[in-house]
Amino acid sequence: MNPFDLSHRVALVTGGNGGIGLGMARGLAQAGAAVVVAGRNSQKNETAVAELQTLGAKAASVIVNVTEQASCEAMIAFAVEHFGRLDILINNAGTNIRKQPMDYALAEWHEVLETNLTSAFVCSQAAYPAMTKAGGGKIINIGSMMSIFGASFAVPYAASKGGIVQMTKALATAWAKDNIQVNAVLPGWIDTDLTKKAREQVEGLHDKVVQRTPAGRWGVTDDFAGIAVFLASPASDFVTGTAIPVDGGYSVQG
Ligand code: NDP
Repeated sequence: MNPFDLSHRVALVTGGNGGIGLGMARGLAQAGAAVVVAGRNSQKNETAVAELQTLGAKAASVIVNVTEQASCEAMIAFAVEHFGRLDILINNAGTNIRKQPMDYALAEWHEVLETNLTSAFVCSQAAYPAMTKAGGGKIINIGSMMSIFGASFAVPYAASKGGIVQMTKALATAWAKDNIQVNAVLPGWIDTDLTKKAREQVEGLHDKVVQRTPAGRWGVTDDFAGIAVFLASPASDFVTGTAIPVDGGYSVQG
C-alpha cells in the first residue's frame, strides 16, 4: 500500500483557485484525489479546474463566500453531490487588512475574523456529517507565522491565525473518535497575491524575509503540495491536533 495514495478520495479546498490553496490542490490532484476548488471569482475557479484536469485529476469548482454559513453549506453539498463523498477539507481561504491597531473599524476586525477563523469552523461543522459517513476524514486549517508571532500591522489577522491553532486542537480532540484528523499548516512568507500587497504596504519586507529565512528565499505555492498530501493521506492517520510550520526555518531562527 502506498501511504500517500489519494485515489478514490474527494478533497475540497477553499481559496483553491490561487496561491497556497492551488499549490495544495495540485499536490492532492497528483496523488489521485478528485478536487473541488472553491472561491468567489468564477474566472479563477475555471482556470484552476482546467489546470488540475491537465494533471489528470477529476476537478470541479464552486462559488463560495466563506463568510456566509449558507454558502459554506451549499459548497459542501456540491462536493458531496458532484463526486459522491467528501474525505478532505482544506480551510485555506483568507484575507488581511493591514493597519495600526487604533485605525481599524469594527467591521474590518469582523471581516478578517470571519474570513479566516469563523469560516474554518463553519466549513468543518458542515463537512462533519459527510466525513463520518465516509468513515473518517482529514481537515487541514491554514494558520500563519502570526499563529506564533505578533505584528504591529496585523492585529485581527494574528488573532484569527492564533485562533486557528487552538480551534485545530479542540476539533482534533473532539473528532478523533470519528477517525477525523485535524491539523494546521503554518506558512512562512510565500509569494502570492496576498503578500504582493504586503510587499507594497510594508517597506523593506522582501529583503527582511530573505535575510531572516534560513532557506534564504520566499516560499512558493509548490512548497505546499507535499504537506497537503501528507496531512490528507493515510500517512498521517496517527497525526492530529498539530500545527506544522512550512517556512524554510523562519520560525526557528533565533
Ligand atoms: P491569495 O490571496 O492568493 O488567496 C486567497 C484565497 O482565498 C483566494 O483563492 C480567494 O479566492 C480566497 N478567499 C478570500 N476571501 C474569501 C471569501 N470570503 N470567500 C471565499 N474565498 C475567499 O493568498 P494566499 O494563497 O497567500 O493565502 C491563502 C491562505 O494562506 C490564507 O489563509 C492566508 O492567510 C494564508 N497565509 C499566507 C501566507 C503568505 O505568505 N502568502 C503566509 C501565512 C498564511 P477569490 O479570489 O476567488 O475570492
